Amino acid sequence: MWNLPRPALADALGYFDDVVDNTRGAQRTQDRRDLRALVVRRYALYEKHASAGTLRARFAALGPSLGASQRATLNGMYESRDGGACGRLKSAIRRGQTGPRSARCPYCAVGPPTQWDHVLPEAVAHFPELAVLNLNLVKTCGTCNGRKGTVWKPILHTYWDAIDGLPGCLNVALSVQGASVEATFTVERPANTSRDVDRVYRTLAAHCARLGLCDIWSSEAQLCIAEIRAELALGVEDGDDQADVERSLRRRARSLGRLYGPNYWEGILYAALADCAPFVELVCP
Ligand SMILES: [Zn+2]
Repeated sequence: MWNLPRPALADALGYFDDVVDNTRGAQRTQDRRDLRALVVRRYALYEKHASAGTLRARFAALGPSLGASQRATLNGMYESRDGGACGRLKSAIRRGQTGPRSARCPYCAVGPPTQWDHVLPEAVAHFPELAVLNLNLVKTCGTCNGRKGTVWKPILHTYWDAIDGLPGCLNVALSVQGASVEATFTVERPANTSRDVDRVYRTLAAHCARLGLCDIWSSEAQLCIAEIRAELALGVEDGDDQADVERSLRRRARSLGRLYGPNYWEGILYAALADCAPFVELVCP
């Protein structure tokens, strides 16, 4: 879990206009254009309240939902037959999010980002006016997008919640039995936090539960540990001792922390392995 650069609200209306201009049918195009002022207000509300709390609080802050005919008019803006307007919108978001973090899903930090999640669902029953809002679109993996679904509950907002500013909230318990090493991830509340930090922590805990992330990370860790052991074994063959093994693991944990922040499961796994004497002895008897 990590933050990504936030797209600019100033660009958002340009993409709305692009989609409207490429809408099929003169009447439908005009109907959507007539709702532009309303959409401007909703976009501004979204940005204003995005940092106010959980998604539920954000929803309340957005005020009464649109009327049925307004929702129907805006429904379907997020679709492929729009002259490529949605594609241009998505490309612009991704151009602002380069670097290693953009290569994986920011919700789970495991899967490749292949789908676009609407943070507040764009379904007609929810927020069709946010269907093409750049601030509401996050590229995620299919697993997270599917598990999040269209009935939303509190989940981390990649662009707003201070995920990188939180202390490490993940813990991994290691069990070494013979040659077998098992990892079990849990979410833990940081000690002595401010109210703001505690709010983000609670959202993070709900996010992990909703997406089943601790189970995913515990499973992913098995392959990861096997690869780590294979690499460390090469070092031991070249003369590394236990102190070298620990140092190597800690260095990797620090470099991953710098790249991906304090709540990246793999960085936390490396740090835990460095602290686990039975694991170090297993690798370097
Ligand atoms: Zn994911």
